[in-house]
Amino acid sequence: MTMITLVRGDITEQHVDAVVNAANSSLLGGGGVDGAIHRKGGPEILSACRDLRASHYGKGLPTGKAVATTAGNLPARWVIHTVGPRFLPDEDRSDLLASCYRESLKVADELGARTVAFPAVSAGIYGWPMEDAARIAVETVRGTETRAEEVRFVLFDERAYEVFADQLR
Ligand code: ADP
Repeated sequence: MTMITLVRGDITEQHVDAVVNAANSSLLGGGGVDGAIHRKGGPEILSACRDLRASHYGKGLPTGKAVATTAGNLPARWVIHTVGPRFLPDEDRSDLLASCYRESLKVADELGARTVAFPAVSAGIYGWPMEDAARIAVETVRGTETRAEEVRFVLFDERAYEVFADQLR
């Protein structure tokens, strides 16, 4: 049984096996969660991302996929980078967002991570409405088989926290 938990806070401070990064396809850093993870985690993460670009993802990590690196100086052991879809009002891209959660949990299982923390992927710079982002996140994690014992949603602000709490009720 996987326990789904919710905390209001900063994903970079979570003492879990793996934290998920709302990365962009370049894997070379960005704003929001991505910026915070690289800032606090230090250069080791970026260096691992560069190696991944060179070895496997010359064109970048595709949207909906996930890949792991070291977590550098973060309390977590690994960062799982996933690329959420940008929100497009005229196109249903929920499958791609669901894929981020599924693929990240698959990578977590491959690593043997027992506790995994997710931010609200795509709900920041990528423009996804929080209600939709939360519904897809919660439905997908509930519907995905994983060996993780805890999947933690980490929400930065009170409103996002409340929206996720509604979904979990
Ligand atoms: P995306 O580009 O996928 O939209 P963002 O990083 O811009 O990703 O935002 C995703 C969500 O994470 C937003 O709701 C944002 O407020 C939140 N967020 C930003 N920084 C942090 C942090 N350090 N910890 C947890 N959540 C964060």
